[in-house]
Amino acid sequence: MTVQELWKEGNHILSEAGIEEAILDSRYLLEWVLQCNHSYLLLNPNSLVTMEQEQQYRTAILERKGHKPLQYIVGEQEFMGYSFLVNEHVLIPRQDTEILVETVLKHMQECMETASDCEKLQEDTEADTVYKILDMCCGSGCIGISLWKKINEKQQGMCQVIVSDISSEALEVTRENAKRLKADVEIIKSDLFQAIKGKFHILVSNPPYIPSKVVDTLMPEVREHEPRLALDGSPDGLFFYRNIIEQAKDYLEEEGYVFFEIGFDQAEDVRKIFVDAGFEQVMIKQDLAGLDRVIYAKLPAGKNHATSKQR
Ligand code: GLN
Repeated sequence: MTVQELWKEGNHILSEAGIEEAILDSRYLLEWVLQCNHSYLLLNPNSLVTMEQEQQYRTAILERKGHKPLQYIVGEQEFMGYSFLVNEHVLIPRQDTEILVETVLKHMQECMETASDCEKLQEDTEADTVYKILDMCCGSGCIGISLWKKINEKQQGMCQVIVSDISSEALEVTRENAKRLKADVEIIKSDLFQAIKGKFHILVSNPPYIPSKVVDTLMPEVREHEPRLALDGSPDGLFFYRNIIEQAKDYLEEEGYVFFEIGFDQAEDVRKIFVDAGFEQVMIKQDLAGLDRVIYAKLPAGKNHATSKQR
């Protein structure tokens, strides 16, 4: 069979099944099976594929026909310029979540600039601080690992990153990602703060935040293939924000920050939870579509439970 014939067949099956991006998906899967790029397909329509490739492609097309997301079929997704392994135990990293990472990076940049200003004025100041960052509900590890890489690329040893999740299967994926991206992050299995020790300058999380009833209305790619555990944020979607914010005081350094990804309509609810818990300087950021996507706030000095607990 030729490249062109196989592509046609794949496209036909996906179009018939009502897959929206049939042409693109069938092409992308063929590129993946043949390990080639788009121009190879265009320039070599009549070259022959092996039986093995034909079979692998048909299997992939059938999976896609069943609404399995492309990323789970090919096993990876790019995020912040890095390639992350994914399987059905972790959420597929979303482009919108890059805004969360970029917001934390910008904050870190400002911290570094302030620290180096201090260093010029007086020696032995915050300039030597190692920033401790906790990525809670880490899934594939895309947030924590990207932060570790971006920050350490700029300034080696500047930060220590701990990533945690309740799911052992998800943490296996995190571990693989940390290994292949050579990110020295600490990986902890924990139900929220249950196994977390110590204090952090930054707590970042993209927790499950979709209201339970809404999960069942999502597209089949998400509803039937992505882990419900990573999506369902309780009946009102706010369970994780409430819990993390309430307990954060025990785990934040003085003037520590909490950064969250949120759903487009959750900014005001989460702002209120922050304010009620004594946080200040609540900031909200929008995604490329102009929808509220990130919220963060600072725990003012004296508000954390600094020395009360021995951990
Ligand atoms: N932190 C991971 C991500 O943003 C997983 C999020 C989750 O499981 N809710 O992709």
